[in-house]
Amino acid sequence: MLIDSHCHIDGDSFDEDRDEVVQRAKDTGVAAMLVVGTGDPHSDDFRKAVVVAEKYENVYASVGVHPHDAKLYDDEAEKHLTELTKSEKVIAWGEIGLDFYYDHSPRDVQREVFRRQIRKAAELDLPIIIHSRDADDETVEILKEECSSDSFRGGIMHCFGGTAAMAEALMKLGFLISFAGNVTFKKAENLRDAARVVPLDRLLVETDCPFLTPIPFRGKRNEPAFVEHTAKFLAEFYGVEFETLAKRTTQNFLDFFKLALTAETQSGRET
Ligand SMILES: [Zn+2]
Ligand SMILES: [Zn+2]
Repeated sequence: MLIDSHCHIDGDSFDEDRDEVVQRAKDTGVAAMLVVGTGDPHSDDFRKAVVVAEKYENVYASVGVHPHDAKLYDDEAEKHLTELTKSEKVIAWGEIGLDFYYDHSPRDVQREVFRRQIRKAAELDLPIIIHSRDADDETVEILKEECSSDSFRGGIMHCFGGTAAMAEALMKLGFLISFAGNVTFKKAENLRDAARVVPLDRLLVETDCPFLTPIPFRGKRNEPAFVEHTAKFLAEFYGVEFETLAKRTTQNFLDFFKLALTAETQSGRET
């Protein structure tokens, strides 16, 4: 049993075959997944993540403005997303953070909107999902400043791409570290150096699909069923049985969000 802690199956590339994708994931042992909404917070983009989560059992959603779209964040956007968190299926705020690789929003705006959303999540008592690219030091600095209070609900550093020191700093703040398919790539020795310091009880796995397809499916559209390959890779890397890693990461996710898996309908699908 596995959980895909971060996927984007609300995206257009899954419109044609979303039922099959969810079924395939379940058939492969993916017991639950977290659909992370992205896009323009003034549009219906985020509603789609919530609608998808509401349609399938053990599929959850997260809403929060990606650093790419930080420039679109304002009072109205915040109100819209806050409204969406009223769904019981919304269990986190994110992905939020800094992306200085693409710089789709001005850095100052990214910083400000990142802080603002951390505070909003705290107010709503929701954990946060963090995205950080080429901005690791600043990401850690902001999290240290904003997330050290006792009431902080914790968070997930998604698609971890930083150093061992970053992983350690984040774990100290109460974050779980989630690895995606890129940890399986040949050149990702730096990621594996970081993975070495992450104990099994702080570990999650994700696909970030449709992106980052793991070996052996590179070049294909990624989907939640493929999280198995990242988990198998990491089990071998840590020198533990696949079952051990699968069970551990599943329990980490469920404990973190205080969730229990619901029983499937007979066909495994919504009727
Ligand atoms: Zn991301
Ligand atoms: Zn993502």
